[in-house]
Parts: sequence; C-alpha cells; structure tokens
Amino acid sequence: MALSHNLGFPRVGAKRELKRALEAYWRGEQSKQTLEQTGSQLRQLQWQWQQQAGLDLVPVGDFAWYDHIAQLSQTFGVVPSRHQHHDDQLTQLFAMARGASACCGGNADALEMTKWFDTNYHYLVPELDQQQVFQLAESPLLAQVDEAQSQGVPVKPVLVGPISFLWLSKCANNEFDKLTLLPALLKVYQQLLTQLAQRGCDWIQIDEPVLSLDLPSEWLAALVSSYQALTEHYAGRILLANYFGKVADKLEWLGQTQVAGLHIDAVRGADELRAVAIGWPAERVLSVGIIDGRNVWRADLSRLLAQLKPLHEQRGDNLWLAPSCSLLHVPVDCDVETSLDDELRGWLAFARQKLSEVAALTRALNGCQSFTDRALFTDSDQVQHQRSVSSRVIDLSVRQRTHSVLPEHLQRRSQFSARQAQQADSLGLPTLPTTTIGSFPQTASIRKQRAAFKAGELSQHDYDLFIESEITDVVRRQQALDLDVLVHGEPERNDMVEYFGEQLKGVAVTQFGWVQSYGSRCVKPPLIYGDVSRPDAMTVRWSSYAQSLTDKPVKGMLTGPVTLLNWSFVRSDIARSDVAQQLALAVRDEVSDLEHAGIQIIQIDEPALREGLPLTNADRDAYLQWAVDAFCLSANGVADTTQIHTHMCYCEFDDVIEAIAKLDADVISIEASRSSMTLLDSFTEFKYPNAIGLGLYDIHSPNVPDVETMADHLNTAKQTFPLEQIWVNPDCGLKTRDWPETEAALANMVAAAKAVRQPL
Ligand code: GLN
Ligand code: ZN
Repeated sequence: MALSHNLGFPRVGAKRELKRALEAYWRGEQSKQTLEQTGSQLRQLQWQWQQQAGLDLVPVGDFAWYDHIAQLSQTFGVVPSRHQHHDDQLTQLFAMARGASACCGGNADALEMTKWFDTNYHYLVPELDQQQVFQLAESPLLAQVDEAQSQGVPVKPVLVGPISFLWLSKCANNEFDKLTLLPALLKVYQQLLTQLAQRGCDWIQIDEPVLSLDLPSEWLAALVSSYQALTEHYAGRILLANYFGKVADKLEWLGQTQVAGLHIDAVRGADELRAVAIGWPAERVLSVGIIDGRNVWRADLSRLLAQLKPLHEQRGDNLWLAPSCSLLHVPVDCDVETSLDDELRGWLAFARQKLSEVAALTRALNGCQSFTDRALFTDSDQVQHQRSVSSRVIDLSVRQRTHSVLPEHLQRRSQFSARQAQQADSLGLPTLPTTTIGSFPQTASIRKQRAAFKAGELSQHDYDLFIESEITDVVRRQQALDLDVLVHGEPERNDMVEYFGEQLKGVAVTQFGWVQSYGSRCVKPPLIYGDVSRPDAMTVRWSSYAQSLTDKPVKGMLTGPVTLLNWSFVRSDIARSDVAQQLALAVRDEVSDLEHAGIQIIQIDEPALREGLPLTNADRDAYLQWAVDAFCLSANGVADTTQIHTHMCYCEFDDVIEAIAKLDADVISIEASRSSMTLLDSFTEFKYPNAIGLGLYDIHSPNVPDVETMADHLNTAKQTFPLEQIWVNPDCGLKTRDWPETEAALANMVAAAKAVRQPL
C-alpha cells in the first residue's frame, strides 16, 4: 500500500488566530497561558483536519510561535549572548525575534531576518560562534510529539536537518568554516533523535531544502557523513526531505546515506521524476511531492494518477505521496472564501483541500477509492476542462496584444543622456533633487475609513472625498517641507499588490487567503487565474488630483509587473514569463494614461524583482531576461521628457547590476543608509549610467536621523558618483511610520540635500 503524508501545515490558523493571539500577548493584553491555549487548540484542530483528510502520517513539530528555525536554534542552545539571560523560553524566543529594548543596560537587537529560499516566508538567521557550544534545551518538538501522541495522532516528527541549519546560519563575530561545527551539532541532533526514538516514533522527517541549491561538494560530503552518523543512532527510520528544487544530480550522494526514505519535490522537479524513480534504490521509500505546496490551484487528479501508476507498480509500499513542500506557503481553507464566486472557488485548493487530494490519490493507487474520492476525481476532471475553455482564462484580445509586442516596444526612444537633458529642461529640478518613495503614514483614521467603506458603512462618494482630503493634506505637508518631487501618498492602497489585483481583469483577491510572511505578519497574495488586462485606469484619478494642487511635479506611483507576479499566486497553465508580459502590458496602459494626464514622472516599483531570482545559477539568466523585458515593456513606451523611476529595497545588486542597468529607468531608488552607502559600490564599479536615488535613512526605525549623518552619506556618494546623477530620498515608503517622526526626518533630509548642494 502506498502511504500518504504531509510535510507541514500552516501555523497561523484559517483566520489568523495565531497572529491575533501573539499580538494581544505582546501588547500585554493576554496572558502567556491564554496564548499557549490558542497554540494547542490550533495544533489540535490541524491534526484533526489532517487525520480526517485520511493521511497515514501527520507532521508534528511544524508548529512554531514565531519561526521554526529560531525555535530549533533555541532548542540547540544557539542563542546570542545578548539574549541568553532570559529564564523563560518563550520570552527569550520573542526577544530573539523582535529585539528587546533596554534590558540589562542596553538594547538587544533581534536576529537578522531573511527570505526562506524563494518563498515569501522569512526566517531568523541563527548566529554561530566559532567556539559555539550546542546544548539541548527544552524542546518544543518533543512537547508537541507528546501532545499529539496523547491525542492519538499518527505522529511523524519533523525538523530541519543539520546541513540546512548550518548553511542557513551565519557566523556571528568572524568568518570561519561553519562545517567545523558539524560534529558538535550532530551530537545534539543525536540526543534529540534518541528522545524521539524513546517516544516510539518510527518515521521521522528531516528537511534538507539546501539540496535545492548549488551545494558545494564538501557540503554534500558532509551531508553523507552526517546522515551516516544520524542513522546509526536512530532506532527508527529517517525520511530525508528536499523541496523547492531538484535533486537528480545529487542522487549518488544521497544514495550513500543510509536514510530509509527520500522526499522529492515532484512539482518543481516534475521532469526528473523518472530519473529519480530509477536512481533511488527500490527498497527504500520514495516520497513523491506531487501536489503543489507553493500554489493554490486544484490538481489534475486523473493526470497525476496516470503518472503515478507505473511508479506504484515499481515501488509498491515504498511509494509515498505528499504535497511538494510544507503547506506553510499556502492559505488554510478555500471553503471559507465566501466572497469568491463558486466557479473560481472551485478552481482552488488551499492546505486542507490539498491534503484531501493527496489522500484521494493514494487511495486510488491502492485501489480503495471511496464514493467521495470518485466524486473528487470527477470534479477535478470538470475543473480542468472548464479552465481550459473558460473565457475568464483565455482572453483572445490579450493574446493578440502579446503576440504583437515588438523589440522596439521595450526600448526608450532616445539614450539616457539625451533624455536627461530634455527632462532637466522640462522639470527644472535642482541638483540633488529630493523626493520620497510613495507612501505616507497609513494612519488609524485611514484604516478606519477603509474598513467602514469595505463594510458598506461609507459610500463610494464619501470614501473618495476622504481620500482626496488625505491627498490634499500630504501635498500641503510636502510643500511645507520643500521637497522637490511630490507624491500623492498612496492613502487609497491597502497593499501595493492587492490594490492593483483588485482592479485587473484575470486577477482575484481573497478574504482569508493569508500566508505567513514572518512572525505574526501575513500577506494575502492575489490570485492570477486568467489572461490579465486593465479595464480602467487604476491610479490616474489620484495622481491627477494631487498634481492639480501643486506646481511642483507629482510622481505617479505604480507596482511593476514582476513584483505583481512574484507576490501573487500565479496560474500554472502558461509560463510565468507570459503572465509577466500580460501584466507588463496592463501597467504600460496605466503609464500611458498617467503620461497623457500630464504626470511627468512615473515610478514603477519592483522590490520583488531581485527576490524572484531562481535558486540555482542555471536558471537565473532566463529569469532576468524575461523579468527585465517585462519591466521595459511596462515602462519604456513614454516620451523622452517623461521620467521613469523604479524602486528596489533591501537587496544586493552585485549579481544583478547588469540586468538593473538594462531596465534603463531614468532614476532607481535604493536602500543605502543601512549599509553605509556600500550598496552604491556595485553601481560605481559597474559605472551605472543612469541616476540613483539614495535611501538616506532607514524607515524601519522611528529614530529621526540627523542632518550631518545624511549630509555625510551624500558627500561620500558624491566622491564616487557624478553629482548630477544623485537623488535624495528615504530608503522605502513611509506607510508604517507616524507623522511627527516622518516630518522631522524629511525636514532633516531636505536640509542635508541643501547643505550639500551649497556647501557653507
Ligand atoms: N511605493 C511603495 C511605498 O512607498 C513602495 C513599497 C516597497 O518598496 N515595498 O510604500
Ligand atoms: Zn521599498
């Protein structure tokens, strides 16, 4: 009999119950006991759901209060000294995650947070010392295993493995070879495994997602020896799990380990499934991650069943089925999406639905299909057919347009130098022009009015009037600050992607489609289900209104096609590059309308362009090519006098600078202050030809930066970069800040620019 299992379940709850509980606890409104109760209720419910779906093995240990890597780090005693003094584990975890202010005579910074592979989940980076001592602390994993066992759950403990843990950690004080710590780290893994064996856990899942990366051979060799050490010490069996990429080229290494099973991502690695099925020993378990754990579409069950049958014949009991990766990256339950129409909802499968698919496929393979399973297969067949012929999916006018895109549509009419001269004439800006990145504080009153509007308590007319009054206010404030290029402040936007998702054809937004981004923060990606187009102008009204209030130029503000793509759930029936091109045409229409409405400067934000870079080198060039093309198609149809800006934050530019230059934006604003202007080095070395907006201060902190520091930054930049190519701005949008600090910081920023323009 083939077996069904799951790799991990979303932790936040179908309606973000965990988020609410955490935030109430942090505000001091809820006791630790109440928080823990919420946690155990959520776990119990999730385990029940997974059992009800019919899974043979249920993952346990996937629940984490903030982040599973931080929790594991704490379990192994990998806690930076600045956070060591806490007696209470939960208090310590939150201090590591969120920083602790003024404790023991100083601030204890939070751990650095970074992206979990190419997902939108962020983990806390463990800090390792060269003399790191690993020591097994109280383990949430063991506690959860006890809890689940007492509830009769068929437990399969899960944890991230030693190679991934080390790879994802950073050296705290000085650079050293992290692999030197491996023997000591393995000892604590062994201790943990021993305790799991004592609890009678037969199978345990150890995740090594770093296998999806271009892993150096010494790390692969270390993986082999580590798993030899771990299998020797574990009485049960180990399922080594990879996800987010392919492993066929590493099978020889993997075969040298004695692990009893291997999980592969058969969605991202669909084309290597046969090779792995042949290469992985038949007497060991192969867990095939056949249901997409990174996307939200209902699977084509009949097609998958046909694909799995020969594998099942070949492997029998040694075939397991699962989602491709942990379901952390999809929302919980699409049945609660009552605001979507039935047809569209029927195309979706969130975590709960995906597990039903896994279980139904497994039963079909095993020849014990139930009546409901048959219905699920019939439904799935119908949905595939519906989608393939639906006019909501295929829009011939969009297809015609994408077919008629020509190379010249991707290029500006003139070279940057010619445009620069024309724009200088028409805009008349001073050297070191000052501007902001787009959003201004999203105050409690804005949120309240939007909620009232969404609840139907405020009419469209009154809501629009309110937005206009907000715009009037931000324009007045920017004028008082003497900024050179103004913005309308984005008060009408709940989110830079969702706002456009709501207005584009072929895109839907959900009510509860939340996915954890970090800690209690969740994002709600729109669903791109069909060919995309822009029925009506999306931003022109607000930008024009702002422009009508001032003689200074107002910068129009759009989210770029690549960011719209990377921060959405995207249909998988056509290539991502094709969807990007459709989005690009929609944005191009908006750019053109803004231009015709007299907006002379248009910013197209692409903060997610760099982060969409594929995990392996082999795939990067192709991605950069179509991503750059999409941006260029959206932006470059304008007249020479129209100035195009783009904005990217918190990313390294070294490996993408060539691609960034190809965007040919007149101005790119980047974060620069946190790295003390070193980010600029990539641009200087490359002799980046166009203008750069330097993010002179970090908007994540309420601190008001002083004039001298910002002027120093400008003077530093001026030494390596031509003055006429430098712009002055904060490093990102200001929506999370309050007004007093925003105005104080911008006043200093403007003063710094003036000081450097006219040195005393
Ligand atoms: N224009 C957006 C803002 O100012 C950009 C946000 C971002 O870069 N993430 O909020
Ligand atoms: Zn930004």
